Amino acid sequence: MGERWRVAVDRGVCIGSGLCVDAAPDGFRLDAARQSHPVVAETDAGEGVLAAAEGCPVEAITITSVASGEAVFPPEE
Ligand code: SF4
Repeated sequence: MGERWRVAVDRGVCIGSGLCVDAAPDGFRLDAARQSHPVVAETDAGEGVLAAAEGCPVEAITITSVASGEAVFPPEE
């Protein structure tokens, strides 16, 4: 089985740009207040979700490896 990621959006930081939804339509959705949410809390590791996290202009998206608990994005220093 491939790696699983836990995805979170910091709602205090998200500015509702919608870029993450464009990058990963299956991974994120905007609510009525234009706040992004992960569609599911855990997902298979994938380029779309990573691209969304990398592309978020305010770095509101964090990805953590479910198995190891280590940060996937933003990477640990
Ligand atoms: S890209 Fe970032 S700021 Fe834009 S909606 Fe997604 S989480 Fe929010």
